[in-house]
Amino acid sequence: MSTDAILPPATLGMLGGGQLGRFFVHAAHEMGYQVWVLDPDPNSPAGQVAERHLRADYEDFAVLDRMAAECAAVTTEFENVPAATLDYLAKFIPVRPGAAAVAVCQNRIAEKTFLADNALPHGPFVAVREAGDLADVPATMFPAILKVARFGYDGKGQATVHDASEAMQAWQGFGAEACVLEKRLRLDCEVSVVLAREASGEIKVFPVAENRHRNGILDVSITPARVDEALAEQARQVAAHVATRLEYVGTLAVEFFVSDGALVVNEMAPRPHNSGHATIDASIADQYMQQVRALCGLPLADPRPHSAAVMVNLLGDLWYRAGDERAHEPDWSVLYAVPNLRLHLYGKHHARPGRKMGHFTVIDADVERAFAVAMAARRAIG
Ligand code: ADP
Ligand code: MG
Repeated sequence: MSTDAILPPATLGMLGGGQLGRFFVHAAHEMGYQVWVLDPDPNSPAGQVAERHLRADYEDFAVLDRMAAECAAVTTEFENVPAATLDYLAKFIPVRPGAAAVAVCQNRIAEKTFLADNALPHGPFVAVREAGDLADVPATMFPAILKVARFGYDGKGQATVHDASEAMQAWQGFGAEACVLEKRLRLDCEVSVVLAREASGEIKVFPVAENRHRNGILDVSITPARVDEALAEQARQVAAHVATRLEYVGTLAVEFFVSDGALVVNEMAPRPHNSGHATIDASIADQYMQQVRALCGLPLADPRPHSAAVMVNLLGDLWYRAGDERAHEPDWSVLYAVPNLRLHLYGKHHARPGRKMGHFTVIDADVERAFAVAMAARRAIG
């Protein structure tokens, strides 16, 4: 253990107040820490459960001064924290992951360039900063997906395009912002690897998750992924390589495509990940505890799963019925009737279509049985 380990009852800082931050707060509390959350949203899920919720902008430097004075270290739960915020806090307290690693993950051009520079598997892409960048795109790139370089999530800021002129139109539609154009790959499936890395370089990897999306949003995550073991091992190694090259400290997620049998990195998230939620219920240590440990300079815990798990996201759509504009609370008793199902609701006050409101995880020794129970539970709740 590092001699300067941060121990309870120290106060930890969290930038961002979404559900990933909320689970971090739960883990930190269980381990004896206190947490201050910075998020401008007065109803933020993490702010509701933290010792202190600083309702301020991420670039409010007076508030950052208070955070630096009260918190022993600070971490983040979303990739769009301004680099200036991380750099400023790092003058006073440890910021993990650091600004440089977050900067790579928060910009798709930087991210793809990082993969290419480090000879990590990635799909064909073109960086689009000006109109001329779309002039000589080879026909083999199409059909393609144009993605805004910054601030996209859950499939937002993306357009499928079939030729250069459609790409130009879509780019103008995005306000001529920096974008990447990616060849649309034929996907066998999608998988992800969540891991944690200590400042010493030690890495602990969670089981590979198999992810199904609906409308660009993660829908179902199955662990362990039902893929070839050699492919799973390659995914774990590539993810570890990404973490090492980023000199990453904290919990990191790497999303992959499996395309024509080959593994391709899609994107990285410098934080815990939706596909790692199952670690809360199915592993000895979960992705949030690892984030606390890495942040505090404690040795990482054992990431082994004790069960297979199937996680299902619950979106705001579930609150609405056809022909009725009012939101209705779903009948949760339907899910509580399933004995090996754990329901997690995030405390969000307003259900909107596409908004992640909660999730449930079905735990079983057998992954196929967990999947069958999860799908039946999903049908039952609507
Ligand atoms: P987000 O930041 O919204 O998660 P992603 O780049 O991961 O953005 O895209 C969301 C989903 O869209 C992916 O998980 C995948 O299902 C699909 N997708 C994105 N890029 C491609 C691609 N190049 N080829 C095929 N499908 C893609
Ligand atoms: Mg993604």
